Amino acid sequence: MNLKDYVALVEDFPKEGIKFRDITPLMNNGEAFRAATDKIVKYAEEKKIDLVVGPEARGFIFGCPVSYALGVGFIPVRKPGKLPREVVEYDYDLEYGRNVLCIHKDSIKPGQRVLIVDDLLATGGTVEATVKLIEELGGKVAGLAFLIELKELEGRKKLDGYDVFTLMDY
Ligand code: IMP
Repeated sequence: MNLKDYVALVEDFPKEGIKFRDITPLMNNGEAFRAATDKIVKYAEEKKIDLVVGPEARGFIFGCPVSYALGVGFIPVRKPGKLPREVVEYDYDLEYGRNVLCIHKDSIKPGQRVLIVDDLLATGGTVEATVKLIEELGGKVAGLAFLIELKELEGRKKLDGYDVFTLMDY
């Protein structure tokens, strides 16, 4: 099965000039969704993962089945105002403006081994913020898994020294 058959290219979304890779057809197909999940689980199996962390919102969709298959917990990383208890925050630059991500302060214990899962690696800003939050809580980022990497945006440069796994490149 070629997973790329289940990724749609949408020109000029969400604004002109952007080529958006739409992964909802893959989610819509049970076989493709399972195949993608299984590949990430296989990658994670030897890493002795204690927890999966996924950034809002597609990191939830792909991270949760992985955490279920590994039999470990899932931790959401969210925008401000969404998590009900005490959080730590990290803010980072976007092309236009800034963004803030949060994690529950008690969600990771020092030394726990964490797998980050998200749908897509673009500039790497989202995942870099997620790494910072995990490390601020004392967690160890044991691996990072993405379905898609947009190579020309060079997000990997922000992840130097980390173990990065991707299923598809564009
Ligand atoms: P980054 O922070 O620039 O690496 O952007 C990654 C985040 O933006 C991920 O959480 C993606 O869900 C989202 N994203 C950026 N570009 C696309 C795209 O082409 N398709 C789907 N999601 C995207």
